[in-house]
Amino acid sequence: MQYGNCVKSKPLLLLNIAQLLTLALRSGADGPRRGASLSDLGIIQHAAVLCLAGKIVSVGTTKDALRDPWLKKNRKKVTEIDCGGRVVLPGFVDSHTHPVFTHPRLVDFEKRISGANYEEIAEAGGGIRSSIDGVRKASKAALTQKVVAVLADLAGHGTTTVEAKSGYGLSLESELKSLEAIRAAAREWPGTVVPTFLGAHAVPPEYRERSQEYVDLVCNEMIPAIAKRKLAQFVDVFCDRGAFSAAEAAQIFSAAERHGLAVRAHMGQLSETRLGPLLRYQPASLDHMDHVNAADLPALARSDTVATFVPGANYFLGLSKYPDARRFIESGVAVALATDYNPGSSPMLSMPMAMSLACTHMKMSPAEAIAAATINGAWALRVADRKGSIEPGKDADLAVFEASDYREIPYWFGENRCALTIMNGAPSGHLPS
Ligand SMILES: [Zn+2]
Repeated sequence: MQYGNCVKSKPLLLLNIAQLLTLALRSGADGPRRGASLSDLGIIQHAAVLCLAGKIVSVGTTKDALRDPWLKKNRKKVTEIDCGGRVVLPGFVDSHTHPVFTHPRLVDFEKRISGANYEEIAEAGGGIRSSIDGVRKASKAALTQKVVAVLADLAGHGTTTVEAKSGYGLSLESELKSLEAIRAAAREWPGTVVPTFLGAHAVPPEYRERSQEYVDLVCNEMIPAIAKRKLAQFVDVFCDRGAFSAAEAAQIFSAAERHGLAVRAHMGQLSETRLGPLLRYQPASLDHMDHVNAADLPALARSDTVATFVPGANYFLGLSKYPDARRFIESGVAVALATDYNPGSSPMLSMPMAMSLACTHMKMSPAEAIAAATINGAWALRVADRKGSIEPGKDADLAVFEASDYREIPYWFGENRCALTIMNGAPSGHLPS
């Protein structure tokens, strides 16, 4: 279940594209990109794309497009966008965000800079507790407006599909309110939103020292209520030291399975957890993966579970260590990149910035970073049948960048070079001429 808006717009023709990154595989092989295929961007030079009713209908060179008999006859009915030698790629699929919160965590930021640890930050009134208080007190309308603003910003940076998690309410009422805010915001946005229930983000303060009781509440009350109201596609668990154990994650996964919800997890951010018992539930994605047992990589590579890296969190927490992307890629694991947009550890909504960090700190090539931010993000959300590449039949989700070479996208870091996004066939504005 996703929220997406079908657009009954005029036919749309993008032409004079210097490089069109189709991400279409030449071999026609299916499944998430692994190993060498991660670098295959399916580039067409001097390209054009024709979209109709929110879908891509044809992809080729500008020359061939202009010779097309249908287009010759119908040109007046078509909205044309002259891309003027820019780069066009599939809109980014940001497969990991936490957009439902009320305020930035500036105490955490300042305290961490001065060397405070997690406990000292919490004592100073920061930490996840302050986000929980904010969400519990906020009205659904106020949360909706926050999410609406985030979605607009994401689109401004080239993102057209977003996974949005709850997880700062941590009570039945506040989690429902958060997921309803996601649904209400998604209805106001032309892009596509995939909602995720993250009740198991942290043990809320009133359940301190009673985490099993809280897990039972997540499994026996929250998941059934959310499934019944169709408020989430995925159930997520923060499985790590100081959060939820692998056994608790398995209990939550099995409750999700019983209620027809797919699963994903935050994994290996702080410490290593063996993956075997959780891979049994076929998680769509395991995210962070800073710590992993090398013996788990072959099983991960054989599965369609994507390992999603979120280097914005490593950057913002001031870590010198990043996930070992090369090892995952060389083992044949499907990898994706996401922002992990959240107020505590990654207040970043730019996928190009995530890609830049992946290139400079994780030694992913610019081509690998692009595939990880588009088609493999779509696999991580199980929407690859519609998203993540520019091919006839897929949704018309495109990003136009102020660049003539795709490598400029992660190269010009700290500056937004996204000139235009098209979401389900709807352009977000006009290109500067
Ligand atoms: Zn996260």
